[in-house]
Amino acid sequence: SYRKGGYHAVRIGDPFAAGRYVAQRKLGWGQFSTVWLSYDTRSANYVALKIQKSAAQFAQAALHEIELLSAIANGDPSNSKCVVHLIDHFKHTGPNGQHPCMVLEFLGDSLLRLIKYNRYRVLDLSKVRKICRCILTALDYLHRELGIIHTDLKPENILLVSTINPAKDPVRSGLSPVLERPEGNPNGAVTVNINEIKLKRKAKRALAKIASRRDSMGGVLSPKPEKSLDGINLRCKIVDFGNACWADKQFAEEIQTRQYRAPEVILQSGYSYSADMWSFACIAVELATGEMLFTPKGGQGFSEDEDHLALMMELLGKMPRKIAIGGTRSKDYFDRHGDLKRIRRLKFWPLDRLLVEKYKFSESDACEFSEFLCPLFDFAPEKRPTAQQCLQHPWMNQGNSPHKEPVEENLDVGMSNLQIKAAK
Ligand code: ADP
Ligand code: MG
Repeated sequence: SYRKGGYHAVRIGDPFAAGRYVAQRKLGWGQFSTVWLSYDTRSANYVALKIQKSAAQFAQAALHEIELLSAIANGDPSNSKCVVHLIDHFKHTGPNGQHPCMVLEFLGDSLLRLIKYNRYRVLDLSKVRKICRCILTALDYLHRELGIIHTDLKPENILLVSTINPAKDPVRSGLSPVLERPEGNPNGAVTVNINEIKLKRKAKRALAKIASRRDSMGGVLSPKPEKSLDGINLRCKIVDFGNACWADKQFAEEIQTRQYRAPEVILQSGYSYSADMWSFACIAVELATGEMLFTPKGGQGFSEDEDHLALMMELLGKMPRKIAIGGTRSKDYFDRHGDLKRIRRLKFWPLDRLLVEKYKFSESDACEFSEFLCPLFDFAPEKRPTAQQCLQHPWMNQGNSPHKEPVEENLDVGMSNLQIKAAK
């Protein structure tokens, strides 16, 4: 993928935007981009630099992402809505072409990593609730205030907010900025003499040193995976607007990552904001149990899609006939009675029983949690509660004393209040 139209090859110390940003290390990558921890020499802060592939269709997608991220940042000047903030954008010309670049606030580990770090076990419900509050705050903002559907919500696209600011606390983060390329070029041309070998080794050592700091970055889950999650400040933000769209200007029929995909997307009966709410509910269960809720597989005589619909009905009950036969693709899966064509026998295992029997939840935890979630798993998309309604739900507000403001639970509001105070 590192060829014309593809990724831009980056080396540690590489300058961007006329030297304003300096690449530090790779944070991650996706289909369309690589993301680099970079040092912003102007603000003396770390940022995440997302460098898109250069071919026309990727560049086009980046411009769309920038349009959405700009609207998100403009509507949230105090940066309190739990959505990643766009700081800057520019184009970078390299050997593979012209790459749109986005400068984003630097965030920590993803929820996927949190789930792994917790070794795929159940997570304390008070922690699940805190994370849910952030996701719902973000969704309420995107849906109700901006008219944006994310369309690809999943644990990888929700990042924890780093509690350590490496620029302000270099000792705790173990990081000091690299301002230029380490001597020599470890990825460069064939070595021709001893001197170059030495240079190459020196550069490798320099890079190893930088890489060894890697695990103390992010300041959220690192460095010790066996450490308990107690005391970790759980705030998070939604990232990756590469597939997001304005609700009134949709362009893709097939959206969402398989396990988080809503039934109306499989059936192609039209989707809206409520498709994000389905994914949200899948994520909430996954956080609480440590395991993905739906992991469909194709088998002999049936497709992955059909298995997915069967799994949904085993958990949620039979899909109402009108909905089952109402999509463009319904005929591929259902007969005219609204029964699956190829998977006939379903084993009903409702969510509250699953939580008790498989994941050893207490009866009351299981009952309250599924009362919160089941309406989100309504097969009728328009009946699912909105993010705003979810925020009002008793389960979301458990543990808050009725007379006090939920300061602890809603750190984002607390932060914006502080910022407002600071501004005064
Ligand atoms: P793509 O659209 O190519 O999938 P993403 O926006 O999902 O790109 O970013 C790819 C990866 O880069 C993410 O999964 C995450 O690991 C990392 N990443 C993205 N944005 C940030 C950020 N603001 N801070 C830290 N890491 C990030
Ligand atoms: Mg992604």
